[in-house]
Amino acid sequence: MKDKYLMLCNENMDSFSSLFTMIKEKAPFIVDITNVADILAGKSLKRMKHFRTTHIYIAIEADKFIEVEDQLRDYCNSLEESTAFTNFLYLHKTKAPYTGEDLLKRYKHEYILFDHEEHLAQAIQFNLYMISLFNKSILSNRLADYIYHSFKEVVYYEMLKKQKADIEELNEELAKINKIDNLTNLYNRRALFEFLEKERNRTLRSFQKLGGDDYPIETKQFWGNQEGSSEVEEDFIEYFGIFSIMMIDLDHFKKINDTYGHLIGDKVLKTIGRLLQQQGILRDQDIAGRFGGEEFIVILPNTNANNALGPAMRLAAELDAIEFVSNENQRFKVTLSIGISEYHPTDKDNEAIIYRADQAMYYAKEHGRNQIIIYERVFD
Ligand code: GH3
Ligand code: MG
Ligand code: MG
Repeated sequence: MKDKYLMLCNENMDSFSSLFTMIKEKAPFIVDITNVADILAGKSLKRMKHFRTTHIYIAIEADKFIEVEDQLRDYCNSLEESTAFTNFLYLHKTKAPYTGEDLLKRYKHEYILFDHEEHLAQAIQFNLYMISLFNKSILSNRLADYIYHSFKEVVYYEMLKKQKADIEELNEELAKINKIDNLTNLYNRRALFEFLEKERNRTLRSFQKLGGDDYPIETKQFWGNQEGSSEVEEDFIEYFGIFSIMMIDLDHFKKINDTYGHLIGDKVLKTIGRLLQQQGILRDQDIAGRFGGEEFIVILPNTNANNALGPAMRLAAELDAIEFVSNENQRFKVTLSIGISEYHPTDKDNEAIIYRADQAMYYAKEHGRNQIIIYERVFD
């Protein structure tokens, strides 16, 4: 199938008409022997329509080309892209014999035709050269196409990636806004319940894998850093199939508000938020949130109630080291009552463990506040 098209312009090539005829006869591509006027008049259009731009060549005598170059290029630009032609071969004619220099010229898309040479041999040689020109044009276009398409893919991919990242960032921000308490920067109540649900399911699965519930808990009451502080060393032992929660409530917070003002009260809450996020108090895996008002919950994965005592005591100690200052320069301290309870595999829902931690916390309140109570040591 002849899928390439050569327009062979005969201007200034009068003595080459029989060679042109031979070229046309032997060419493995379509050849129209034509002239610039006909091309500009659109007479080649019908034919050109069947070929891609890369598959069209115009061979034209070099001097004639210089004369009509602008017209040809303008005409070409006026055509639809599919019928435009941009490939030119400049023909030179000579009576001189074949030389090495002539060969070199061929690389510049120029071709020397000899009007003394035998037509058949010259036609075949010319056609071979034309084929190499066509292939070069098609190939470089394919390469450009390939590069363009690869690049397009890359651009699209990058664009999509950026869009996706933007959306994800927005979603993350939204999710965060929905999950974060903006006064303390801790997780809010809703987020806490979500984490608790997750932790309960995760723990239930590992508990079932472990196949038991034998976690010895001594019945002891803890007060600040006094009793049982030696057992706190065990804090970093992990107990799979269990987790604990801490219910933290500020002592006499209403009085702080009443005495120093609501804004100072807010500052205290912010400080608790900061401490719960401060390195060295909780572990990275622990989840701290504001349960409401002046109440906080910490979820401690893989931690039994005994070992939850460590972070609770560290928190109390850190808070104890802080002296708050009111607007009137009054100095005051804040204390916490903390209730700890661990997950029981029989817990049907999150409320069960929250309830026990709450019970322990109230026990601490009833017994003088500023203390940490482990539910399982007091009530079980
Ligand atoms: P207790 O030691 O028994 O816990 O006494 P309490 O005063 O801390 O407890 P109570 O439940 O009587 O009062 C809690 C107070 O916390 C009342 C409320 O005004 C205050 N509160 C709750 N949320 C906020 C808040 O966002 N900012 C401030 N400044 N105060 C808050
Ligand atoms: Mg309270
Ligand atoms: Mg309180």
